[in-house]
Formats: sequence, C-alpha cells, structure tokens
Amino acid sequence: MHRFLPTLQVMNRNAGNGLPRVVVVGGGFAGVHVVMSIPPDEAQITLIDRQNHHLFQPLLYQVATAALSAVDIAQPIRAIFGDRPNLDVLMAEVTDIDPAAKRVTHSRGHADYDYLVVAAGSVTSYYANPHWEAQAPGLKSLDDALRIRRRILTAFEQAETEPDPQRKAELMTMVIVGAGPTGVELAGSLADLSRRVLRKDFDHIDPAAPRVTSRPTTPY
Ligand SMILES: Cc1cc2nc3c(=O)[nH]c(=O)nc-3n(C[C@H](O)[C@H](O)[C@H](O)COP(=O)(O)OP(=O)(O)OC[C@H]3O[C@@H](n4cnc5c(N)ncnc54)[C@H](O)[C@@H]3O)c2cc1C
Repeated sequence: MHRFLPTLQVMNRNAGNGLPRVVVVGGGFAGVHVVMSIPPDEAQITLIDRQNHHLFQPLLYQVATAALSAVDIAQPIRAIFGDRPNLDVLMAEVTDIDPAAKRVTHSRGHADYDYLVVAAGSVTSYYANPHWEAQAPGLKSLDDALRIRRRILTAFEQAETEPDPQRKAELMTMVIVGAGPTGVELAGSLADLSRRVLRKDFDHIDPAAPRVTSRPTTPY
C-alpha cells in the first residue's frame, strides 16, 4: 500500500523494485518540494532538470548587481537529496511529453512514468515582442543575472573613457521594465552598485551620474 499515492491505479510498474515510477520535470522550488514530500520508500523518482543546480531566484538581482556571486544562490540538486534511495537526478532538457505512452523525452533519452509532475517554472513575457529579448534579458536564471552584470560593468568601463558627454550619459542610463518587487529591488541594488563601485574604482565618472529608471509594465 503506497501512502502517498493510495488511490491512484499504478498501471505500469517496471522500475524493477515494484515501486511506481514518478518523473519530476524541474528542480526548482516546486520540483524539490514535491520530491521531499514523497516518502523515499514509496516511489522510484527521476528528477530531471536542464541545470544541475537548484536556484534561489529571489536573490538573482544581487548576482546581477555583483553583490553576491553565483555560488551563493545555487546549490547542486544532488547535494540537496544526498544519498536518498530510489531517486535519480538527471541533468537533461525535456523536449517532449507523450501522455498516452506515459513517456518523457529528453536530451539524453527518455523516461517512462506512472506519475508525472511538471514543475518547469515560467518564462519572461515580452508581450508578443520576442525580439526585445536581445536588448533586455530577463532575470530568471544565473546566465541571465551574469549577462546583466557583464553589461552593466562593461558600460561603466566604456563610460570611463568616453569623451562624448551625451554618449557617456547614455552608457550610464539603465531602464528596468517592470516595477514589481523584483524591478524595484533591482533598481535599488543597481543604484547602490553604481555609487559604490564608481566612487571606489573609477576616476572619470561622477558617482551621481548613473540614472536608474524602473517602469511599470501596466498602468495601476
Ligand atoms: C528575480 C526573481 C525574484 C523573485 N523573488 C521572489 C520573492 O522575493 N518571494 C517569492 O516568494 N518569490 C519570488 N520569486 C518567484 C519564485 O522564485 C518562483 O515563484 C519560484 O522559483 C517558482 O518555482 P518553480 O519550481 O515553479 O520554478 P523554477 O524555480 O523556475 O524552477 C523550474 C526548473 O525547471 C527547469 N526546467 C525548465 N524547463 C525545463 C526543461 N524543458 N527541461 C528540464 N528542466 C527544465 C529549470 O531549469 C528550473 O530549474 C522571484 C522570482 C524571480 C525570477
């Protein structure tokens, strides 16, 4: 009798140990929580994520503004679960789900399941303008945060030696689309970074020069 999955029919027990096979797509908050909530002796679980780390997204803005480094907010998924039995962690990109065949296809093969949990998170909305992404990266992953950080610090470097005052002002102007909690936190942290780094490390930029604007995406 499986306590966690008591009422569901398990049609296909091929895990080898007689346990129902659960495939969890995504090792974010939701996926990790689901795995933790299933007793280890009640299911054979495969947790698939395209990254090998679990990410604490709420502090991404601190990585984007060089207040924290990437390892401060990322933890290997395998380390979270230690030597928990009946769990396989797989780093792979899920590309297809066939509900009829109960099969998940991923970049390294496929996984058959009796139960499937899709906890793949969300993507940044560009309001049907995907071409904006090249100019304005979202803030959902470590790659995004590091890309933003690189752009900011590169703009400072260019501004340091830029003779044209107008171009210099452009390089020091940062616009954030979205004035919810993340946008506002990012704006505050950007302003802090600008003043801290510019005062200490740069000679030819006025620490008061950077302009940070955070704009709501919808009118209130
Ligand atoms: C910048 C920022 C700040 C935030 N601040 C707060 C806050 O202060 N408080 C709060 O409560 N919430 C906050 N949130 C929201 C919170 O982080 C999310 O609600 C939460 O992370 C969602 O968890 P999730 O597991 O659904 O998705 P995610 O954490 O996004 O996890 C999804 C996982 O699925 C994986 N994945 C996606 N697609 C595939 C695929 N095809 N194949 C394999 N793997 C895949 C991803 O790699 C990822 O690891 C913030 C979010 C962001 C981005």
